[in-house]
Amino acid sequence: MNAEPPRIALITGASRGIGQGIALSLARDGWHVVGTATTRSGADAIADAFSDEGVSIKGRVLQVRDDESVNSLVKQLTDELGAPSLLVNNAGVTKDNLLMRMKSDEWAEVLEVNLGSMYRLCKAVLRPMMRARWGRIVNIGSVVGRMGNAGQTNYAASKGGVEAFTRSLAQEVGSRSITVNAVAPGFIDTDMTAEMSDEQRARLLERVPLRRLGEVSEVAAVVSFLASDAAAYITGETIHVNGGLYMA
Ligand code: NAP
Repeated sequence: MNAEPPRIALITGASRGIGQGIALSLARDGWHVVGTATTRSGADAIADAFSDEGVSIKGRVLQVRDDESVNSLVKQLTDELGAPSLLVNNAGVTKDNLLMRMKSDEWAEVLEVNLGSMYRLCKAVLRPMMRARWGRIVNIGSVVGRMGNAGQTNYAASKGGVEAFTRSLAQEVGSRSITVNAVAPGFIDTDMTAEMSDEQRARLLERVPLRRLGEVSEVAAVVSFLASDAAAYITGETIHVNGGLYMA
């Protein structure tokens, strides 16, 4: 087995929701975590949220749509702490609309943030991983990427793309002991699902065998597993965390 380089983890979109849960889980596992937000105040709040935990979490500003923002953050981290050996591509957005009404900027933003980010971030961190002959990449997909969902053609296409991207990159970098996997959450209790009406929520839960939304910690635990040595022989895979809503 190759020696593991310094445990620096970069997690996009760690200011709230699933990304915040992943940041805490990985920090408890001993990773030096750098989490990102789109604003300075959001970035400052990342470390503040866990100041009582005695773990290593820093916050930085990142706009995943922007090449310059991605490249300068990765360079800065590499100079300050060392190159990230774990990347979690978590940042994501929804802009729901029926296709007949969807504006081209609603289509473009969701594809750029959810899928374009994978291209930018993975490319920025891969070279040092290749040199180190060790790395972990975990991409956050969605159950909607498999099932489809009316009103989410943009989101579903981006998340289906995340899975296909994951399988392809896994084949490119596997010979360097770099694993690339996806985690596909179902409906998880975060800001993203808080917009549902009570009626929408009740209708959804009727379709979920476990009859509840998922917790961010339940997604984070799977990311922690994929980042661990125990998952060293898993690559190109998507692990579903959806309470049975979709059984692949
Ligand atoms: P959330 O609570 O809305 O948080 C989104 C995170 O992404 C925030 O940290 C946000 O930063 C960041 N972000 C948004 N746009 C960005 C951009 N352009 N550049 C950089 N960062 C950006 O979302 P969530 O529910 O935790 O979802 C996290 C991931 O899980 C997403 O990929 C989502 O598609 C996926 N997912 C969620 C669910 C669910 O039920 N919640 C289900 C399946 C999949 P700011 O705070 O600065 O805005």
